[in-house]
Amino acid sequence: MEFDVYVGIGSNLEDPVEQCLEARTRLAEAEGVSLIRSSSLYRSEPVGFSEQDWFVNAVCHLRTELDAHDLLRALQGIERDMGKRVPFRWGPRIIDLDLLLYGDQTIDESGLQVPHPRMHERRFVLQPMVEIAPSVEHPLLKVSMEKLLFRLGEGQKVELIER
Ligand code: ADP
Ligand code: MG
Repeated sequence: MEFDVYVGIGSNLEDPVEQCLEARTRLAEAEGVSLIRSSSLYRSEPVGFSEQDWFVNAVCHLRTELDAHDLLRALQGIERDMGKRVPFRWGPRIIDLDLLLYGDQTIDESGLQVPHPRMHERRFVLQPMVEIAPSVEHPLLKVSMEKLLFRLGEGQKVELIER
């Protein structure tokens, strides 16, 4: 049994474009995971703690036979191998991999919440989601990614990186 999964990638340290591309390569090569499609890269204004560099973000559509917990462990393994250290909540990071959607499953545990509890309010998630999966529905809100993006207020700046 395989599941369609969406993973958010972010970085704002040590050449963030390269870090995001490296993370994408590692996701594609992970055991039990195949990369179906990845979004463009976007540059985004930091959310939560603004005194730090802008982030680079992307979203990848993966297909996997791993269950959600094993997939999260795989994501955390990639983060660790890439040298992730987060000095404080919402602080700068070399890489951040967030499990956004795991099929239409909902999980609410202390160490794993799916859909990612803040994805629907983050333009840096929704804009790349809409590029690759505009009609995918949020399993709790029952609204498409396109509608969620449309609903967002102004304020968070997100810019496509032309390559
Ligand atoms: P951020 O919330 O800014 O991504 P971190 O990456 O440092 O911050 O947080 C990682 C923590 O979030 C981990 O302890 C992990 O167990 C937890 N977590 C809960 N749900 C998810 C999810 N859907 N994807 C990734 N991490 C999650
Ligand atoms: Mg994270």
